Amino acid sequence: MRIAIIGAGIGGLATAVGLQRAGAEVVVFERAAELAPVGSGLSVFPNGIAALDSLGLGSSFRAITSANAAALDAGQRRPDGGWLAHLPQEAVSGLRVVHRAELHEILVEALQPGTLRLGTVASASRDATSTDVEVIEVDGESRIETFDLVVAADGINSAVRRSWPGDPGLRYSGYSSWRGVTSHPVDLLGAAGETWGRGLRFGMAPLKDGRVYWFGVATMPADAKIDDEYARVRELFGEWHDPIPALLDATDPAVVFRLPINDLAEPLPTFRRANWVLLGDSAHAMTPDLGQGANQAMEDAATLAALLSGIASNPAPAQDLVDSALAEYDHLRRQRTQPIAKRARMLGALAHVPSRAGVVLRNAVMRLTPAAAMGKQAAAVQTWMPPAPTGRVAPADVR
Ligand SMILES: Cc1cc2nc3c(=O)[nH]c(=O)nc-3n(C[C@H](O)[C@H](O)[C@H](O)COP(=O)(O)OP(=O)(O)OC[C@H]3O[C@@H](n4cnc5c(N)ncnc54)[C@H](O)[C@@H]3O)c2cc1C
Repeated sequence: MRIAIIGAGIGGLATAVGLQRAGAEVVVFERAAELAPVGSGLSVFPNGIAALDSLGLGSSFRAITSANAAALDAGQRRPDGGWLAHLPQEAVSGLRVVHRAELHEILVEALQPGTLRLGTVASASRDATSTDVEVIEVDGESRIETFDLVVAADGINSAVRRSWPGDPGLRYSGYSSWRGVTSHPVDLLGAAGETWGRGLRFGMAPLKDGRVYWFGVATMPADAKIDDEYARVRELFGEWHDPIPALLDATDPAVVFRLPINDLAEPLPTFRRANWVLLGDSAHAMTPDLGQGANQAMEDAATLAALLSGIASNPAPAQDLVDSALAEYDHLRRQRTQPIAKRARMLGALAHVPSRAGVVLRNAVMRLTPAAAMGKQAAAVQTWMPPAPTGRVAPADVR
């Protein structure tokens, strides 16, 4: 099969790796002239690692990460450092935190040479039910290319999704997030996780080399104008418990950036239209409150690769086989991702409850919720296996 993937984010790249291993001819179109991943750290949970394993990338991923978060006390604290809730050990023992740039690097390295076409914008041709893709190269030259399947991994603002009937659009969560990574290792003093205030949240997690990925979240208008982002983060969180001030001291102000947090306004009725599928944030953009957006994109990738593995190497597969693989992808991935997106949204709303009385009530409920109940919820999200491959795939990488 000749397969186009629109977008070289984590979802598009992971899909390209999986489909190439299954024998497909894959082209990845990326409109950015170079891959400069927006973001800093990324939490990858056992479900995301299971997806990477099935894509043959598990060993490369383990080599650049460590399970050092498992040694830390985790959960939610108050700004004065008192604990609101402890997460059971099993909810964090499989967590690995990676710098996004490093994850991108192992994904790109696993591709066959020439797969990635940077500086190239791709979109559905006027007849969106055909698999013609309009391609505009970096020099402005445009043409139509035809594929057997197009995977739209073009992110939360997906132009492909917006061209489909019934696109629900995005909704702003009410909060925006700053992210950063310290320039050098910082002692987390034995604990990690999140600290919840009123309309404010701060989170921290260790990278393999001891540097720390952190995020600050604040309730604010989506288009708030802030002259100095780093100064604002210091103003909001600089007096919170240790080691938050030390993390901010250890961060280069230039790497701190803010993003408004949006998700899809409604779950999509389908991730598939003819021989087009949506994948990753284009299909199920969710708030980052469970740290699952990229994990789910990698699950999408592993699922699609497994379901197409029986026909991917066939240059002219029967349409009924393509239909059944894509229908199964659509079914499995909507069933899995849409409840997670809903739960992430609810958790974010709880974290950002606006009133003082609401915060008191929230904190009391958190203190009374048994750790085992939180562990059970985490396990439901973090336990996942890809479908069995329908055909042969190349052996996994060993680095
Ligand atoms: C604050 C924050 C923290 C987060 N933390 C986590 C976390 O800890 N763990 C986790 O799992 N997830 C996390 N996420 C979510 C995660 O970042 C996303 O779910 C993930 O990056 C989505 O990947 P993607 O490949 O679907 O889309 P993207 O990464 O957005 O990639 C889409 C790509 O498509 C390209 N593109 C778009 N249109 C075109 C076109 N027409 N032609 C060619 N190329 C095009 C874009 O340039 C882009 O490179 C977080 C998100 C936020 C905002």
